[in-house]
Amino acid sequence: MAEAVPLPVVRVFDVAIVGAGLCGLALARKLVADGLDVQVIDARERLGGRVHTRYCEATGQALDLGPAWFWLETEPRITALLSELGLASQPQADPGDALWLADPSQPPERRVESGGVHVGARRIKGGTGQLIKALAADLPPGSVRLGVALHALRDRGAFIELLPATGHPVRARQVVLAMPPRLVHERLQFDPPLSAAVQDALAATPTWMAAQAKAVTTFAQPFWRAAGHSGNAFVRHTQAVLSEVFDASEGDAGALGGFIALNAAQRENFRRGLPMLIDSQLAQLYGPQAHHGHQFVQDWAEETWTCSVADRASPPEPPQASPLLRQPLWAGRVFFGGSETAAHGAGHMEGALEAADRIAHAVSRPKTRTGIDMRPAALHLARPADGTRAEAIGVFAASVLTLRGLAPERYRLHLTRQLASQQFEQLTQRALLATADQAYSESLVRLDHLLSALDVASTEAVNGRHALTTALLAPFEGWNKSLLEAALSFNGTSCALSNFPLEHQPDAGLLRAITLDLAAAWREFALELNTRLLAASGTAQIV
Ligand SMILES: Cc1cc2nc3c(=O)[nH]c(=O)nc-3n(C[C@H](O)[C@H](O)[C@H](O)COP(=O)(O)OP(=O)(O)OC[C@H]3O[C@@H](n4cnc5c(N)ncnc54)[C@H](O)[C@@H]3O)c2cc1C
Repeated sequence: MAEAVPLPVVRVFDVAIVGAGLCGLALARKLVADGLDVQVIDARERLGGRVHTRYCEATGQALDLGPAWFWLETEPRITALLSELGLASQPQADPGDALWLADPSQPPERRVESGGVHVGARRIKGGTGQLIKALAADLPPGSVRLGVALHALRDRGAFIELLPATGHPVRARQVVLAMPPRLVHERLQFDPPLSAAVQDALAATPTWMAAQAKAVTTFAQPFWRAAGHSGNAFVRHTQAVLSEVFDASEGDAGALGGFIALNAAQRENFRRGLPMLIDSQLAQLYGPQAHHGHQFVQDWAEETWTCSVADRASPPEPPQASPLLRQPLWAGRVFFGGSETAAHGAGHMEGALEAADRIAHAVSRPKTRTGIDMRPAALHLARPADGTRAEAIGVFAASVLTLRGLAPERYRLHLTRQLASQQFEQLTQRALLATADQAYSESLVRLDHLLSALDVASTEAVNGRHALTTALLAPFEGWNKSLLEAALSFNGTSCALSNFPLEHQPDAGLLRAITLDLAAAWREFALELNTRLLAASGTAQIV
């Protein structure tokens, strides 16, 4: 009798993550730390997605051609991650005068920007790419495959099949699409197909900075500082090449970064002449010393794996994803990730980490393996000294109280930022939601740190509600009402809003719309908090 030939065992990963950007890598690191078998794929031949740091051989500087800045005060996740990974940061160089150039035939005007231009912004030493390197270093060999572009997803029942444009399928029990929603909409096929509502929500979520281009020019020294210039410049005339310039120097060498003012189509037409145009604009701002630096230009609109057709065709808009994109599909086995899906910090690196965090809590963990602690990573955080549950609830309540105190000022800040970036639509509504989402996002970080002290596992859940949920949500009593009152009282006295009569004194229709939006955001937060408690207690999320 012929010997039976064993069939090859097809590997089914616990989780497949599509996208090795900040969101995908941060999530993979968390899940691997929890003992899950993870496969990350990325269409590009490099890690990092929109995080892209290049190095100037002539000056030895790291140059961020994608994201460069984060904010300690409002971005708790990236701040904590940098400290966990031992990465240092430094403030964005701002001291000195800014230049304003409104007429190309005139010299630029010097202005003192009181308080600086990039208030509170910091840069990672050695470039943002350090963050990507550090995250990838914690992943097991073979867990990331580059040059694999996902084309379709098929639900096969026991697992999901990921079909790349070329090469072998990947199989996984759960899938995370850690990529811009619009790319999901335009490039991926789903079997069974996505609902029209989800497709619409994906299509309606712009990819932050996707159609922008950034240029960094390096010099032996930051020579502009000696003349009292900050390196910040704003060019506002119609022939502007760089609309906004800033100091991107590292160490003793100098660098001027800038966002290119031409749109994607113009850049295509002027591609050959662009280096010369950048050179002459820098010289017009900072004199002949600014000629002949080493230029590095990154046109994100030409990046197939960042910029969708819709992003290229429409003016840049801040992303604000529908909450639908934070709901898993296919019976909790497919998740939308990527910065744009975050409730707070959407489009920023903070948003990428918030999305990773949300999904890390929602992903199911196999219960069968022994010897591995399968609890979410947050549970491994140190207990507060001698923490008891009551103390932990008290700590959480105190942090909510602090957030409530900060809310009116934060509302004003969000409003000011919107006005500064010329977003005049739904001012009150957007600023209020941003304030609420920021508080919810920070509360979830706080909750993660307290999970161990809260001893959630020994508490029962009834009808899908964890017994601690009510106690933890209690300090938010009356929160939406007080938030709205603070906003209306500010609006009524704000000169900046006097040009917007509806925002100055919102009518009943607008008030109702705002109230509904705030209620929806609250509901989403309350559900997320409950889900995290259930997941950590092992009541749910176990397959
Ligand atoms: C010029 C510029 C400046 C910015 N400045 C800042 C800043 O100062 N501060 C800040 O916080 N944020 C900034 N951002 C935004 C920041 O870069 C993003 O929020 C963040 O990097 C998003 O990470 P992500 O993982 O969500 O998405 P991405 O980085 O876009 O990663 C998605 C990954 O998915 C991959 N992918 C896409 N489609 C497929 C497919 N079909 N199959 C397989 N893989 C696929 C891509 O190759 C990519 O690697 C900036 C962005 C740009 C472009």
